[in-house]
Amino acid sequence: MSDTPNTNSQTAGAVDSPNAFEVTAQQITRAADCLKLSEDWRTCLVAPQRVILLEMPVVMDDGSLKMFKGYRVQHNNARGPYKGGLRYHPDVHLDEVKALSSWMTWKCAVLNVPFGGAKGGVQCDPATLSRRELEQLTRRFTKELGDNIGPHIDIPAPDVNTNAQIMAWIYDTYSAHHHNDVAKGVVTGKPVELGGSLGRAAATGRGGFLVLKEALESGHIEGLSSLKGTKICVQGFGNVGSHFCKLAHDAGALITGIAQVEGGIVSSEGLDPYAVEAHIRATGQILDFKGAKNITNAELLLQPCDILVPAALENQINAQNAPKISARAMLELANGPTTPKADESFQQRGITVIPDILANAGGVTVSYFEWVQNFSHDIWSEEDVNRKLAFRMSESYAKVRETAAQYDTTLRNAAYIVAIERVVNAMKTRGFYPG
Ligand code: NAD
Repeated sequence: MSDTPNTNSQTAGAVDSPNAFEVTAQQITRAADCLKLSEDWRTCLVAPQRVILLEMPVVMDDGSLKMFKGYRVQHNNARGPYKGGLRYHPDVHLDEVKALSSWMTWKCAVLNVPFGGAKGGVQCDPATLSRRELEQLTRRFTKELGDNIGPHIDIPAPDVNTNAQIMAWIYDTYSAHHHNDVAKGVVTGKPVELGGSLGRAAATGRGGFLVLKEALESGHIEGLSSLKGTKICVQGFGNVGSHFCKLAHDAGALITGIAQVEGGIVSSEGLDPYAVEAHIRATGQILDFKGAKNITNAELLLQPCDILVPAALENQINAQNAPKISARAMLELANGPTTPKADESFQQRGITVIPDILANAGGVTVSYFEWVQNFSHDIWSEEDVNRKLAFRMSESYAKVRETAAQYDTTLRNAAYIVAIERVVNAMKTRGFYPG
């Protein structure tokens, strides 16, 4: 597989499938225009500060040796240590990881979380790896990253196909090489018994849920005033999508469609996400859920609903399907799910897009809480974590709304304006060593 494809093979057959890193440059440029930043600043904000490429040999269960490509991209640390998830996926490539690292910088800045942005990826299909192979690969990756990660340097977390167990292996491997009592802070999204935060697993879905609830209840989405009875379709029922579905369902929303990689299910009566989760656990797939109709993943995005929630991968909503989407608003829980052309189509049709760098920032916010708890050797109650998260999400949503009104622009561009202004101020105040 190539390192820098300019199409994204995760979107089968789509023509509008831009290179995610080029998309970040466009997003930065648009906000930089509003902030009247010079060309030099734009170049500086687009480029990642450090790119690490690894080729990692792993002994497979059958005794063969297999090479895996690993990436860690550290985009910007002006506001604090680099921070960002680790993705295991067969389509992971360098430009995707560069884009994801950039989005982390802006996300942390929008939420005013004192971290910079980074991201990691390993090109692999975890579904085909045994637990032992997955552990060996994770430990090798951690060892190869060496001192490029650390509690004050760069702090990984879970992303697509990685979880608390993988964070535990990273923590353990890192600790074996670095003997100090703050090593816990090297990763977030750890198991709770190893210093993970209560509320972290649900935090990304919860953060999106909170912003959507506030947008609805404040009358910011035309024709809707609360979650009660609101019809929602969700693409992706992994960590992020499943927690979001449960919270929205508990608040009275009707989850009328859910899709995973293998396809989706719909029901106009609403799906019970707890029962869907049990069905997946029992059968290994979402299809054939009792009382629901099977559909394709592509059809899910076009279902009539009030709110569409992409919670899977990049470029899922593009120039081809955006004009056919009838939802009144989009809540971007995935990173980069909407191409710039699709964005334009939504803007022209007055469809509100709550952008990824705000909507899915609950995860990194509670990761920050976890990191603080690790350093202070404290354990916060889940109630406390959720209360602090709600405060941060609400404050950030208000700031983005206010900025959108000030510049007469979209919520996405406003979020970038807020974030870029904070990062540029930090960089200017720190100055440029050695000058
Ligand atoms: P996950 O691995 O737990 O779940 C991914 C889900 O997407 C699965 O349900 C999978 O079936 C589905 N999926 C994968 N490919 C698909 C395709 N082509 N079509 C439809 N569905 C597909 O991952 P996650 O942690 O839930 O992450 C989902 C998204 O949220 C990613 O974009 C990730 O970067 C973003 N995100 C995650 C976090 C976090 O805390 N985990 C934080 C911020 C953003």
